[in-house]
Amino acid sequence: MGRLLIFVLIGYFIYLLVKKSSAAKIDKKQEAAEEETFKDPVCGVYVAADDAIIGRLDGQRIHFCSMACLEKYREQVGHTPT
Ligand SMILES: [Zn+2]
Repeated sequence: MGRLLIFVLIGYFIYLLVKKSSAAKIDKKQEAAEEETFKDPVCGVYVAADDAIIGRLDGQRIHFCSMACLEKYREQVGHTPT
């Protein structure tokens, strides 16, 4: 009977570990889905809203990965910074 109890306990711990790790995976997935990303039109990189440089051009908010890309875009479009 003692052996069976040990097996049950080991099984329970494995169950807890699997449950814990799969829960963590789900959390990460949700985080990634919730994080809004924008495509930098100059270099094509996707940037998170928190990390993006936001340029306002023609009343549009355009997200860039860096100031360099923002400047490049302004040059391409031919707008002067507002
Ligand atoms: Zn860029």
